[in-house]
Amino acid sequence: MNLEENKVFQNRVLLANLPTKIEMLKKTSEKFNKKIYIKRDDQTGTELSGNKIRKLEFAIGEALSQGADTLITCGGIQSNHCRATAAAAAKLGLQCQLVLSRDEKSFYDGNYLMDLLLGAQIHYLPSKEFADNRTYFMEDLAKGLEKEGKKGYIIPVGASNGIGTFGYYQAMQEIVNQEKQIGITFDTVVCTVGSGGTYGGLCLGNKIHHLSKKIVGLNISASAEHFTNEIQGISREFYSYLDSQDSLDKEDICIVDGNVGRGYALNTPEELAFLHEFAKTEGILLDPVYTGKAMRGMYRELEDPQGVLKDSQNVLFIHTGGLYGLFPKRHQFEL
Ligand SMILES: *Cc1c(COP(=O)(O)O)cnc(C)c1O
Repeated sequence: MNLEENKVFQNRVLLANLPTKIEMLKKTSEKFNKKIYIKRDDQTGTELSGNKIRKLEFAIGEALSQGADTLITCGGIQSNHCRATAAAAAKLGLQCQLVLSRDEKSFYDGNYLMDLLLGAQIHYLPSKEFADNRTYFMEDLAKGLEKEGKKGYIIPVGASNGIGTFGYYQAMQEIVNQEKQIGITFDTVVCTVGSGGTYGGLCLGNKIHHLSKKIVGLNISASAEHFTNEIQGISREFYSYLDSQDSLDKEDICIVDGNVGRGYALNTPEELAFLHEFAKTEGILLDPVYTGKAMRGMYRELEDPQGVLKDSQNVLFIHTGGLYGLFPKRHQFEL
């Protein structure tokens, strides 16, 4: 199957700094006596940094092909996805409307500060209403634009839908090319699961190209069961772009619970201490909401003789970004 000739690839807008580097985690490799590498998708850009821009390349491509002039999306107040969308919109001369979840007025900081600097128009919803009604709210925004003779394009949370998932389908091909250059074959790829599109794309790349890698996801909200269903649904949407009714099987999906902690975007002192220790030993900053929790989860699996990585030798962790989320949590670190 040659997907590169598909219209999703022809519409794709190149925005991210690719390919991103793959580096060895020296101390971590020594500690666990395995080869453990990290792919620096935190370096896909500055304003655009993180995993969302890979998905947005395809989603915005679709938006432009439909004649849209305004991107509409949603997320938490410190959403990396919303910030990347605001940056891409500004760069491409599109309008951007963000629906952000918040319960109290927040200080301009981190991603939220950047949303404002990048000129996004922001709508605020209390968290309960956000959870229940964000889709209707975004549809109303699009209808409002239509009355003004404009055209909105709605991107769901995290761009984790069929079209967005092509981003990490493509990233898997990038990894395969880099394996040849580095002279290694990764038997296992590990990533954080927040809305499922990153994991879904990696898993689809693995399946479609018969790579036989183990793809391990560590969820930082909800449950493994929830995301297994979500990702299966996303994969069905992905295949629909290929005029196929196929989907990932539940057996293709390996999500490991146990890393949510106090809840989405909340931290325990132990999680932040891990992030601090990792920064000192590897010289790499993780983020508190996603990759900090997931890397800690990966350590736990590596320490456990029965863990999901017990048979893995060459492991690649995807650093999906999120660094601006560190700053609003400055007071929670013990420094
Ligand atoms: C959104 C996000 C994730 C989760 O990716 P999904 O594709 O939504 O599962 C992981 N890390 C960071 C830094 C993110 O912003």
